[in-house]
Amino acid sequence: MGKLYQVRGIVLSTRDFQENDRILNILTPSKGKITAIAKGVRKATSSLRSGTQRLCLARFLLYEGKSLAIVTQCQVEDFFGPVRESLERLLTACYLAEIAEAVTVPGQPSSGMFGLLKGSLTLLTREDPFLVARTFEARTISLLGLAPRLGSCAACGGTLSSRGPVAVSPAAGGALCPSCQGGYGPEYYLSRESLGAWQRLSDLRGKNLHCLKLSARCRGELEEVLPAYLEYYLERKLKSRRLLHLEEDGHEH
Ligand SMILES: [Zn+2]
Repeated sequence: MGKLYQVRGIVLSTRDFQENDRILNILTPSKGKITAIAKGVRKATSSLRSGTQRLCLARFLLYEGKSLAIVTQCQVEDFFGPVRESLERLLTACYLAEIAEAVTVPGQPSSGMFGLLKGSLTLLTREDPFLVARTFEARTISLLGLAPRLGSCAACGGTLSSRGPVAVSPAAGGALCPSCQGGYGPEYYLSRESLGAWQRLSDLRGKNLHCLKLSARCRGELEEVLPAYLEYYLERKLKSRRLLHLEEDGHEH
């Protein structure tokens, strides 16, 4: 027999199911990722409509079904309204949710990832979406235990070249010295500024985000290496990142 239980969670993604139902992937701190069905939610009269929308933080009363949990009640805690008023913020939020969905598994507590996503969605209501996304990537990499070695060669422990950009390889797990370069798959060249910024992004707490001033070059390098690092370890491409780029290109023309 199933049982009822209450969880707090963020709706990562949704898809319509049958006539009026919707299937949700919810990230919870205690039970990891939960797949749940909200029955009849697409009817105008459903009381579940608001809390079951994508990127909504809510309290759910779930019934443990045979294969899927069933949403019996939900109460919105935060809708992150301002995020929905700008396409760039909304696409960034979807990108963060996609990463959170990719790195979490059902049944495995993920309070770190839940806290990071909740905090980042809150920051996204007011801070620079670019910096929120890069901080999220850097801190996710650390949460997964994949923090790169950037102070010395990740392959041999040797000294990095003392001037010019430093090669970083996801396969090697960090920076490479001149003699190890070329032996560890794709490499990304980072300026000293970017190496330092990566470290600061991983340590940064949200309220200090606006203090971080990065050059255009550094922004470009980080925007390339951080997603590449995540994609290497996830062994998949992050789809919403591409949508975000289309939106950015749209701004320039
Ligand atoms: Zn080396």
